[in-house]
Amino acid sequence: MALIRFSQRQEKIIEIVKRAGPITSENIAQQLDLTRATLRPDLAILTMSGILEARPRVGYYYKGNNVNTLLAEEIKKIRVKDIKSVPVVIREGASVYDAIVAMFIEDVGTLTVVSEGGYLEGVVSRKDLLKVTIGQSDPKQVPVGIAMTRMPNIVITTLEETVLLAATKIIEHQVDTLPVVKTFLDDKGKEILEVVGRITKTNLAKLLMEFGEGR
Ligand code: ADP
Repeated sequence: MALIRFSQRQEKIIEIVKRAGPITSENIAQQLDLTRATLRPDLAILTMSGILEARPRVGYYYKGNNVNTLLAEEIKKIRVKDIKSVPVVIREGASVYDAIVAMFIEDVGTLTVVSEGGYLEGVVSRKDLLKVTIGQSDPKQVPVGIAMTRMPNIVITTLEETVLLAATKIIEHQVDTLPVVKTFLDDKGKEILEVVGRITKTNLAKLLMEFGEGR
């Protein structure tokens, strides 16, 4: 089932019909300062997707309770705090060898690198570690700091952010994991990020599975 994303104009039409329906296409066109002909393809899309229904001689009315809309509304309610996992962290000074062992023991593909106190410094992925070990360096001698991606280049999420936004960040930045952080200001007014969890592609797959099973 495809989740439909409407254009800005289509969203505006939905708003108008929600507010003023039943309403003729002529009236919708007037409100948007467009011609009826311009609106025709938009109205066709909106009726075909079940958002609007057209009644002869009455006009368009809102019928947005179709499966896609309901599912989208449900998904938008879910927050990062509802599905996050516990963080799996390592210190920057730990060796690449330790990081590899931690990945096996904790069964994760990404470690969050933190300073003393659990503040976000970076992220180290499987491929980051492969890259340094393929260079024949001794993984016991090389620190994680050499291999990791550092702040401020880390894409993060927060407890209250929607899962939809977190998933969008994961796809857009092509990463497997986002650290979940709480933001504080230190004594000097500098922003620091405490790591309180992680969101992974597995969390998202589990959520999809639960939806599919009707939970
Ligand atoms: P892998 O490298 O094992 O395929 P990713 O696709 O998650 O795993 O990581 C790709 C690159 O992006 C790595 O260099 C990693 O350090 C970095 N990275 C991973 N997660 C993040 C993140 N949340 N923000 C910024 N960079 C990240």
